[in-house]
Amino acid sequence: MVTHRPSISNAELVILGSGTSSGVPVIGCDCEVCRSSDPRDNRTRCSACLRFTDSAGQARVILIDASPDLRQQALRENLRRCDGILFTHNHVDHTFGLDEVRRFNAVMHAPIDVYADARTMEHLHRVYKHIFDRDKNINDSFVATLIPHLLEPGKSVDVHGLRILPIQLLHGKAPVLGFRIDALDSRGHVVADQPEPLPLAYCTDASAIPPETWPQLMGLRTVVLDMLRYRHHPTHMTVDQAISAAEQIGAARTLFIHMAHDIRHADLEPKLPSGMHLAHDGLIIR
Ligand SMILES: [Zn+2]
Ligand SMILES: [Zn+2]
Ligand SMILES: [Zn+2]
Repeated sequence: MVTHRPSISNAELVILGSGTSSGVPVIGCDCEVCRSSDPRDNRTRCSACLRFTDSAGQARVILIDASPDLRQQALRENLRRCDGILFTHNHVDHTFGLDEVRRFNAVMHAPIDVYADARTMEHLHRVYKHIFDRDKNINDSFVATLIPHLLEPGKSVDVHGLRILPIQLLHGKAPVLGFRIDALDSRGHVVADQPEPLPLAYCTDASAIPPETWPQLMGLRTVVLDMLRYRHHPTHMTVDQAISAAEQIGAARTLFIHMAHDIRHADLEPKLPSGMHLAHDGLIIR
């Protein structure tokens, strides 16, 4: 019998940032969480990366979003390359670190593939004209070199041995993307026996999961899910909503992200159902 093994190895998801758009501590706030000495209450803006080794033995790093804290996060986690960036949506807490990736271009001597839906790509082009319309710059300054790729929900792309499926989520009224990530075998097929922590889905900035998305979230080993605070919010899940969505998804392991200063890690973590955890900056899931 032929066994088809995953063509990637040593996969790990690194939580680069676990905080909401303001980060925690919040500027000018003296609340218990903002003054906390627990490092898990110190949250940079929301972002993650998947690190793995491809079939040729090359180390790869795929970023999910480029937060305004990307420089600090890359230094902290010793990121030295970037083989692609998956953007969830166009909000500044997920996009305003894009300038920093020019350093990866310089180290790797290679351009970086950038994946986003049409709405987010339009935003990136508008904000980062100096990158995308480089020939219009007055001086030929040191700017990132990016190759844009348009995503559509439900249409997967294969990147260095991974299948990335963009899935539709709702961020209030705005459609945003989540990502389901599966490993491929040498023939380019999704393998039955996925290596840890795959298959995984990353769903940030979601207040609702539309009906068509649920089947794409089934059979997951790991899900990373939005959880803003205890009180209702129009564009994010509350603690109760996130736990209930996680129960419905039924992944072996759930990690909550995008938390505000209302959530004290040590208070909520022990109260979560089994298999569910609050993420924190620097958390590595293997
Ligand atoms: Zn956000
Ligand atoms: Zn505070
Ligand atoms: Zn957002």
